[in-house]
Amino acid sequence: MIQNNTHEKKTSLSFEVFPPKKDEEFENVYQILRDLAKLNPDFISCTYGAGGSRAGKTVEITSFIQKELQIDAIAHITCVGFTRSDLERNCAALKEAGVNHVLALRGDRPMSMTDEQYDQREFHYATDLVQHLKANTELCISGACYPEKHFESPSLEEDLRHLKEKVDAGVTSLISQMFFDNEFFYRFLDKARNLGIQVPVHAGIMPITTAKQLGTTVSLSGSSVPKELADIIAIYGDNKEDMRKAGIDYAVRQIRDLKEHGVDGIHIYSMNKIKTTTEICSLI
Ligand code: FAD
Repeated sequence: MIQNNTHEKKTSLSFEVFPPKKDEEFENVYQILRDLAKLNPDFISCTYGAGGSRAGKTVEITSFIQKELQIDAIAHITCVGFTRSDLERNCAALKEAGVNHVLALRGDRPMSMTDEQYDQREFHYATDLVQHLKANTELCISGACYPEKHFESPSLEEDLRHLKEKVDAGVTSLISQMFFDNEFFYRFLDKARNLGIQVPVHAGIMPITTAKQLGTTVSLSGSSVPKELADIIAIYGDNKEDMRKAGIDYAVRQIRDLKEHGVDGIHIYSMNKIKTTTEICSLI
């Protein structure tokens, strides 16, 4: 079971992976997972394709993590555009696969969804999903949080109020959106604790190893880029290997600082890159 004890001093280590795009790539992802297992993570989570397009693959990957590697697995699930029966089918598949922990997410609105479909969706927010899972399953439930606020929210304060509702609905740990400036995470954590959010919060770290990756990451996550990271891209962006080293060094310094501040957990967005993830872990 994943440690949910806030008195536990050890900073946990965990990874996020994504499922293969094609069936023939499963063995490749399994090998990445076997290598990640050697780094002794406390848990590994697996993403869920937007709109549930690769839902079955998330079940298969988390089942492998749980059953074959005997590591706690967290299956991401989203609810936007899903009916109760879709969810029930997904939960039944997870149960059969031996996966008992989910990251309950709202998800982003699929491009294909009309305004009418969006307004009439069965689950409006992740909190609705958490309530449903809590009432109908025995799943352990984690949730997402945003140190720099969720992009739709008018303020961090309002986002935190909704986060508190999500936690009160039954979330036992949180995984944060990636951030590149630890000060955002510390400020967010202070405010969350003051509001009475006491569950463990795993700090999301995305190693930036190419200039292109930073652009995509920032546009998807909305995370701020500190001058130091922007300078790294300006200096090393054109040199593949130097950029990779500088990106690893930045992530390592971020993680060391977080550990010194006694955070509950470090959650590395591995992007299925085993070499980079292994190097980071050997340095922290
Ligand atoms: P919610 O918690 O529902 O929050 C969404 C917004 O609604 C916030 O602005 C919140 O303040 C607001 N809100 C909440 N409750 C209310 C209310 N009652 N009234 C008004 N406003 C409210 N996406 C995927 O598709 N697949 C993945 O695998 C995936 N993994 C992720 C993993 C992590 C760690 C994170 C941080 C994000 C992940 N996402 C994933 C992205 C996520 O689906 C999006 O960020 C989505 O826009 C929000 O999901 P949520 O569960 O945080 O939503």
